[in-house]
Amino acid sequence: MGPEFLQALIDRSSSAIALHAEELTSLDQAIGDGDHGVNMKRGFDAIAKAADEIIALPMGPALQKAGMTLVMSVGGASGPLYGSLLMGMGKAVAQSPTSGDDVVSMFAEGVEAVKKRGKSDAGAKTMLDVLVPVLDAIRTADTGATAAARAAADEGLAATKDMLATKGRASFLGERSIGHLDPGARSSALLVHAVCDVLEGAT
Ligand code: ADP
Ligand code: MG
Repeated sequence: MGPEFLQALIDRSSSAIALHAEELTSLDQAIGDGDHGVNMKRGFDAIAKAADEIIALPMGPALQKAGMTLVMSVGGASGPLYGSLLMGMGKAVAQSPTSGDDVVSMFAEGVEAVKKRGKSDAGAKTMLDVLVPVLDAIRTADTGATAAARAAADEGLAATKDMLATKGRASFLGERSIGHLDPGARSSALLVHAVCDVLEGAT
């Protein structure tokens, strides 16, 4: 899990966000203010720009630096929330994770930090409706953790469609938030797939 691995994570996630920025924006136009694609692209472009400094660090500090970069570059709610995810994950490992259990506890710390920052949990039609099921999936998977994570992300995302938003901007719409996917759940699913691509050795 050296610099090449970190560079691959940065490349894969920033290009996934760039490729889907318009989709994220149109999802946010339906139940928010239409800036989610722009916010995510700005944040991941800033991470890509700081890649040289980030990949020189061990994974823990690298995640913390990437998280800080999101917090500082993104204006919307998603900046501090994804920033908390990455910083929480980074704080959980002094250097780099050395086992699958380390990866699970690292992700668990990150998800916990999002819950705390968002005063939220799964069921409120947010990114946590992807992140929490993915955490549960990797906790219980002995083999095929990436396949389990991908399936949990897709199911979690799909389930946001019929949910009533009770957190974030979409909650202002009340019942009218029902019938639309949550933009942050979509960006979380994209990032889960991007990380799995790298873990599976995609080029
Ligand atoms: P903003 O809502 O400030 O315009 P974005 O559009 O970038 O920011 O991000 C919106 C996404 O952030 C939502 O789709 C949702 O997934 C997530 N979100 C908003 N508030 C919360 C919260 N309190 N807890 C968890 N996620 C949240
Ligand atoms: Mg928005």
